Amino acid sequence: MRWVTNFSQGDKSQKDLLGGKGANLAEMTNLGLPVPPGFTISTEACRAYLQAGGEPEGLGEEITEHLRGLERRMGRTLGDAHDPLLVSVRSGAKFSMPGMMETVLNIGLNDRSVRGLAEQSGNPRFAQDSYRRLLQMFGATVLGVDAERFSELLDRAKADKGTDSDLDLDADDLERLVEQFKQVIAEHGGREFPQEPGEQLELAVRAVFDSWNTPRARLYRRQERIPEDLGTAVNVQTMVFGNFGMDSGSGVAFTRDPATGSHGVYGDYLANAQGEDVVAGIRNTVALADFARLDPRSYDQLMEIMATLERHYRDMCDIEFTVERGTLWMLQTRVGKRTPEAAFRIGSSMRDEGLVDADEQLRRVTGDQLASLMFPRFDSSAERRLVARGMNASPGAAVGKVVFDSPTAVQWTERGEQVILLRKETNPDDLAGMMVAQGILTSRGGKTSHAAVVARGMGRTCVCGAESLDVDAAAREARVRDGGVLREGDVISIDGATGEVFLGDVPVVDSLVVRHFEGDETVGDPEQDAGADVVQAVSQVMAHADVRRRLQVRANADTGEDAARARRFGAEGIGLCRTEHMFLGDRRELVERLIVAEDEETQQAALDALLPLQRRDFVDILEAMDGLPVTIRLIDPPLHEFLPDFTDLAVEVAVAAERGEVDEHRSRLLEHVRRLHEQNPMLGLRGVRLGIAIPGLFVMQARAIVEAAADRVAAGGTPLPEIMVPLVASVRELEVVRRQILAVAEEVQTARGVRVDVQVGTMIELPRAAFLADRIARSADFFSFGTNDLTQMAWGFSRDDVESAFFARYFDHGIFDVSPFESLDTLGVGGMVEMGTVKGRSTKPDLKVGVCGEHGGDPASIHFFHRTGLDYVSCSPFRVPVARLEAGRAAVLDQP
Ligand code: PEP
Ligand code: MG
Repeated sequence: MRWVTNFSQGDKSQKDLLGGKGANLAEMTNLGLPVPPGFTISTEACRAYLQAGGEPEGLGEEITEHLRGLERRMGRTLGDAHDPLLVSVRSGAKFSMPGMMETVLNIGLNDRSVRGLAEQSGNPRFAQDSYRRLLQMFGATVLGVDAERFSELLDRAKADKGTDSDLDLDADDLERLVEQFKQVIAEHGGREFPQEPGEQLELAVRAVFDSWNTPRARLYRRQERIPEDLGTAVNVQTMVFGNFGMDSGSGVAFTRDPATGSHGVYGDYLANAQGEDVVAGIRNTVALADFARLDPRSYDQLMEIMATLERHYRDMCDIEFTVERGTLWMLQTRVGKRTPEAAFRIGSSMRDEGLVDADEQLRRVTGDQLASLMFPRFDSSAERRLVARGMNASPGAAVGKVVFDSPTAVQWTERGEQVILLRKETNPDDLAGMMVAQGILTSRGGKTSHAAVVARGMGRTCVCGAESLDVDAAAREARVRDGGVLREGDVISIDGATGEVFLGDVPVVDSLVVRHFEGDETVGDPEQDAGADVVQAVSQVMAHADVRRRLQVRANADTGEDAARARRFGAEGIGLCRTEHMFLGDRRELVERLIVAEDEETQQAALDALLPLQRRDFVDILEAMDGLPVTIRLIDPPLHEFLPDFTDLAVEVAVAAERGEVDEHRSRLLEHVRRLHEQNPMLGLRGVRLGIAIPGLFVMQARAIVEAAADRVAAGGTPLPEIMVPLVASVRELEVVRRQILAVAEEVQTARGVRVDVQVGTMIELPRAAFLADRIARSADFFSFGTNDLTQMAWGFSRDDVESAFFARYFDHGIFDVSPFESLDTLGVGGMVEMGTVKGRSTKPDLKVGVCGEHGGDPASIHFFHRTGLDYVSCSPFRVPVARLEAGRAAVLDQP
């Protein structure tokens, strides 16, 4: 047998071949549970069918052979005129695709066997009801008739009868419907309804195969990243009838509550119902507790089976069942989907129950689930008015008054207001506003736009690309596409987890998990908070992840405050302190002075003014991370980012000149801005190049770092600064600046009479650096991969420009599953990380190697870095717990 497997022959490990449903039906059969007999046509058959555009050789014969076997076993023949065997035909792919593909029930009924069924069962209403269901499903699914045509007729029949329940239709009503349905099929289905049972089965199987490629199934797969080429299996199973009468019914159930993870079964039951009736909402279902009253014997049996399934699968299961005249039948089971909260709760209680060990508990939760528990959320029971929808760029629930620019955000916040910064898109100039805003909303840009990346880094809620908003910052308003206007000061609520924007103040609930990480000891008390047990579960898993992980986790932080939070969240140092943020705001003017300086003296004066400010920045961070390594990166981005916009300044100076008002400083500044203007600053004067072009700059920063460390030593601390040189391509570049840094470090130490452990290392963020890592390692005490730059340099696209330009197309064509800026391109960029690590360690076997690009906080990338043998990942403070968890999972999943 090649294409078809009996339920009694498979098992749950065969999801690839039998699909999820088929594999689990086989497993339940072999557990001795009451499963109506049947067989599974494999995904391989589906793939062969789809490829050849027709049934593969031998499939028809195999199906017939299995059908004969089933008939022998059941003692009935498919569609027999007197006592028909009926079967269901259901899809079932490897990964669950709820409602995406097709099902046909009651195959085998026709004009003659419907009478036989009525006689055999003594229940003509049931027989006609089953037939009309077959016609309805077969018509829509197999013959492509618009499903509405059937439901309209059904509604009309109920209306004629003066009822809105299908249960009030009697056998005669249903028989009339059957006639009408057959007519609809003849008119709109391109043929008469096939009376021949064998033909019904054959056509239904083909329809299920074909349903793999419906547009909605394709769309769903793209969203869920399910591969296109898997195909679906088809399950042919003896029918059992939940629509037999009030002593029958069907239901769905979970072995625990999938929303909360609480103990106790959870589910819905509908008497006298078949198939999708339960989830389709045609009548009100009852809770399982009521089922217990309706049919205590079946209920007890169900409870027993559910317990068996949980013990067997060692996980929460969801099931579908049917009761036919007091007999319980299992139609499906699988490991159930659950909310993040439920995932943590279930893991912890299953460990207490001895069903899973600590490793398994860790495997079953994800960093994404943890992240979603860390953001405050809107109270979903509150009333809400949706005004726009964008991309869910950075989760959280933020409420505030709309403001349209950064200065207003700062001013309003200073006077005690909460604001949402609404911009077309953001740029580095908006940083101050973004930092004070509750949330950031943009009408343009994608998930890795400036707004999104910065917001995630800060743990700030962000919705981006809400295109139905037409932002007019000058007029201080945004027009909503469907009419309506948002004006400055209007209160809105943005949901960073869903991308929704609501009018008004939607109430939020706090994240207990963050309060726990922050050290709030009151949250562990179950007396106080309903969610305290989730916090305990999180804490239990985190402790085990910390034991298991080999990767260290550091944070990217630029202020003492962020560093302190990162440390509370479990960071084991700073992996990247971006010093360029320290040159914004008031200090910008000093940078301007530095650039316009015409002689060394003026230049030095500007540097001298910056030095104490920088030193203070570093003292704060070193203090917050006392005893732990702190990697401080020397200034990286192009200088023009700290200067006024070229065009603006040119216009300003020209207008002033027109008026006869000449400002010496502004004119001189303009000259320098013109000189420094670059077509592509990403590939221009930045990083180590800047340090070499303006020698005093790096030296000033190095001095500030070592002096800060000396201050910390004097205060009794243990500073461990690591000075990092960005954008190095050649070992020579590194040698030049390393010499200068070490010289100034020595000078400071001698002057201060202290020894400080200063390391000098480099970022590996250019392909050339990865290729020549063995040479670069000669001059580096450590490496840190800058995978943001490495990604843009490897692909040859500029990260600020490409996302909105063409990434959408790349997703459409499947060139990307996910943006390479979000999750590491392990083949290309990852290949360079691997090579750089190996080459670097070929020179220095103990070379410490980390990563500090955005990927350091991304679960899939963290697993890659673990496998590649890096020493640490570094990510934003808010992602630190996520990275700890995923580093632990990577270690556990890596075990043979
Ligand atoms: C990087 O390139 O990965 C990096 C961390 O530096 P930045 O993003 O600041 O260029
Ligand atoms: Mg970089």
